[in-house]
Amino acid sequence: ERVNVRRALLSVFDKTGLTDFAGALAGRGVELVSTGGSARALAAAGLSVADVSDVTGFPEIMDGRVKTLHPGVHGGLLGIRDDETHAEQMREHAIAGIDLLVVNLYPFEEVRAAGGDYPTTVENIDIGGPAMIRAAAKNHAYVTVLVDPSDYDALIGELDANDGALTYAFRQKMAAKAYARTAAYDAAIANWFAEALDVAEPAYRAIGGRLAQTMRYGENPHQTAGFYVTGENRPGVATARQIQGKQLSYNNINDTDAAFECVAEFAPSAGAACVIVKHANPCGAALGDTFAEAYRKALACDPVSAFGGIVALNGELDADAAREIAEVFTEVVIAPSVSDEAAEILAAKKNLRLLVTGGLPDPRTPGIAAKTVAGGLLVQARDAGAVERDDLKVVTRRAPEAGEIDDLTFAFTIAKHVKSNAIVYARDRATVGIGAGQMSRVDSARIAARKAGDAAEALGLDEPLTKGCVVASDAFFPFADGMLAAVEAGARAVIQPGGSKRDDEVIAAADENGIAMVFTGMRHFRH
Ligand code: 5GP
Repeated sequence: ERVNVRRALLSVFDKTGLTDFAGALAGRGVELVSTGGSARALAAAGLSVADVSDVTGFPEIMDGRVKTLHPGVHGGLLGIRDDETHAEQMREHAIAGIDLLVVNLYPFEEVRAAGGDYPTTVENIDIGGPAMIRAAAKNHAYVTVLVDPSDYDALIGELDANDGALTYAFRQKMAAKAYARTAAYDAAIANWFAEALDVAEPAYRAIGGRLAQTMRYGENPHQTAGFYVTGENRPGVATARQIQGKQLSYNNINDTDAAFECVAEFAPSAGAACVIVKHANPCGAALGDTFAEAYRKALACDPVSAFGGIVALNGELDADAAREIAEVFTEVVIAPSVSDEAAEILAAKKNLRLLVTGGLPDPRTPGIAAKTVAGGLLVQARDAGAVERDDLKVVTRRAPEAGEIDDLTFAFTIAKHVKSNAIVYARDRATVGIGAGQMSRVDSARIAARKAGDAAEALGLDEPLTKGCVVASDAFFPFADGMLAAVEAGARAVIQPGGSKRDDEVIAAADENGIAMVFTGMRHFRH
């Protein structure tokens, strides 16, 4: 678990804090080994340091291109200390173990950003540094690797807290950071080449995942596209088995992910859940006793939009549901599994893509979500937030009834998966109107109501399903008008995060109309 640090190899381009840090190591009895420039800096500071070429018995050659690429160094980094054979080989070849590696790399990224010329940029591709970092990080059971000068103080603190040793937890953390560093470094090199060659094909780009599929095009036909898989262990579109149909398109993958991540909010114990997605927004979602019932209820929300949609289920696709789905033009069906009979029914629909995931993702597990902006990636934790009944705070005179509470939490869960501004009307655990992606919340409320009216007409109903429904808003109502638009549409109970400066006005307006309203304290923006 704990490893005493006896010997450190320091090879850094950025020499910030180097001599202080090395001095602190030496003061704790650590033997120092270093490469050319770094060794000179240490010696100049009066520290006793061995040159790496003395360790390897081989000089630095080719202007530094080859200085640490030697078994004397890599054996010292990679040897398994507890392994008889490794230990014996280390003795036989006089390889001394390196317990701590301190490296930062040639400034490739800076040279690239500064628009360095081609040969200068190429010369700044560090080879020996990443090789050592990766070796040390792999052998983190014994070796600590530091790639960031800002970790120097933390390491000395760790040493002092552990009688001159470092813990496994610390080594593991530093190893993770080390690989993140080399991955980003290599991604930068790859992307520099792509720019230098002016190629846009995904195969030349490094976005931080493994390229699993190239598509004919992206969101539009003039855009190239690829699907990079991160290797995250999460049932979903990246890992699903495709049973039939053409290759998934860029939009298919995006929409299928939206549908499956949404339906996975409902554990199978909550009932049979079905979500239909169009353009990354749910256009219908429902819980039922059977998948056929859930699908029918989801479809009724917006049958016009469901045409060409993606259908996701939270359990095994059965024959009854398959028969109903097959009646509507559907691009993709995704479910944890499919019965033989259902697969046979859908087989007749040659163009329908059927995906089986083998399970449901846990919506509460953390993960990251990324989007690109000019010159960067915006990365955030996946929205793993969820609101339980106990989190709800009744803010109106009237409290919601038991049935209304079920519908309120259902609607809020769906609203989390609708692009902001999101307004979701629900009734009997089914959406009856969804307003998505509007720049004003009032518009989302009105659009959702209008769509509910259209759906009622299409279904030949006397009145819209929004009469007596509940409504969810992904973020607070900044004014009473958005909420009143929902009330006008027939909503009798409201769920929203709360937290507006004008909450009092909104609550007063709700009370005037006999509305029950609960605050969740949690917002679900999705842009
Ligand atoms: P120094 O200033 O100590 O001579 O060099 C430090 C730099 O050399 C560090 O950035 C380190 O990553 C890099 N480096 C260490 N070993 C090698 C090697 O064998 N080849 C190359 N190209 N760079 C190395």
